[in-house]
Formats: sequence, C-alpha cells, structure tokens
Amino acid sequence: MPNILLALNWKMNKTPSEARAWAEELSTALPQTSAQLAVLAPAIDLVDVASALKGTPVQCGAQDISAHESGAYTGEISAAMLSDIGAKYAIVGHSERREYHAETSQKVAQKAAAALAGGIVPIVCVGEGLDIREKGEHVAYTVAQLQDSLEQLSLSSAAQLVVAYEPIWAIGTGKTATAQDAEDMAAALRQELRSLYPAHADQIQILYGGSVKPANIAEICAQPNVNGALVGGASLEVASVVDMAAALR
Ligand code: PEP
Repeated sequence: MPNILLALNWKMNKTPSEARAWAEELSTALPQTSAQLAVLAPAIDLVDVASALKGTPVQCGAQDISAHESGAYTGEISAAMLSDIGAKYAIVGHSERREYHAETSQKVAQKAAAALAGGIVPIVCVGEGLDIREKGEHVAYTVAQLQDSLEQLSLSSAAQLVVAYEPIWAIGTGKTATAQDAEDMAAALRQELRSLYPAHADQIQILYGGSVKPANIAEICAQPNVNGALVGGASLEVASVVDMAAALR
C-alpha cells in the first residue's frame, strides 16, 4: 500500500515573506506523523519555502509546470528549474487551471510527461462538475479524463505518478464528498490505472481533494484506495496543517 501524502495547495495566497514565516513555523511545530507532507506554493515563494524546509521531511512543489523543456515560453517554469531548487512535485490539471486557463486534458498530459522527464512528480488532477455528478455520469467522466490526462506517459514513468480526485463541486465550497464517494471514485481510478500500468498501479498514490480539513481527513484517508489528500483552504494556517498531520498519525 502506498504511503499517505498530505499535499497542501496554497493557490494564489502568501507573499514570499508570509510563505517563509509559515514554513519556519511549520518546521518547529511538526507533529509525529506517518504522512508525507508537501507544500505546493506559488512559484515566487518556492525558493524561500524550499530553503526554510531544508532538513525537515516536508517537501515542496509547484502548482503548475511548463509542458516544454526550455526556451521561448514567457512566464512559464520548467521541470529543470523546479528540480534545481529541490522541489519534488507539481500539480497539473487543477480544475482552476482547466477552467480559467483553458487547459485541456491533452495539455495536462504534455505537462505531466514534461514533469516526469525533468524529475518532477506530477500530481494529476481529475474530477467532475456538479452537473455531471447529478446526471450520475461522474465515474465514466472522471475515468475518461484520467485516460486523456495520462496519454503521453510511458509505462515506466508511471511509477512516479500521483493522481488527485477533486470533484469540482467540493472545492472551496465546504461540501465534502463522503468518504465512501471518495473511495468509490478512487477504486474506479485504481482499476483504470491497473489496465494502463499493471506493474505500478497499486503503488500510485490516489489523493482526494475538496474541502478536506482536520475534522474529516482521517476518515477519508482511511479508505483503502485513498492514499492522501490535496488540501486548499485548510492548508493556509499552520495549526490546521499540524492538526491534519496529527490526525493521520
Ligand atoms: C484544491 O483546490 O485543490 C482544494 C482541494 O481546495 P479546498 O481544500 O479549499 O476545497
């Protein structure tokens, strides 16, 4: 069974000085936990966060990554740049990027492949909107989105992949999917991963994201196919991160 990953998505919050203060506070407050922690910070914060967390077990990563290796791609950040500062992860295909930046699953697949080629672990996000859930089409939709978002990945590189199921209706809304909803989708995604990557599927971490907080994280992460959480709002305060990490002990 894969380890539990607690991945913290700050989104567009925290200036570099706020980020540094958060990382310094966390490094002194970290409880005993069996979970791996990773802070997914805005790009401008990453150098400071990586340096403040050096020597702790907490990893860091980006919220997006370029599909390209280097060159004339103004505003983008490459896998090599992230690797160079010691970042381990990059979120790809978050629903906010799919919606506000028109990222297609094809683009997400290119980004995931570029991340892996440059030594960065992509956290590939998938998940349905409320309309699809209400029609009862959420499993077929999300499994198809996963297939399309992984299209460029080689069999061997899949060992490094992380998948996050984030139902859009539960992100930032306070509406959490039930632990059973999370498990049902994670099991369907695992089954798909088994057919795509039979050698690695059982080791791939599948996270749930959507209004996770200290009060619900333990139950969600106790589900057999859920190997952690991607947390937005509840990641901003150190105290809440400490409580979540302690709940996963
Ligand atoms: C997210 O944006 O990845 C997320 C899960 O946000 P929240 O925890 O705030 O719902």
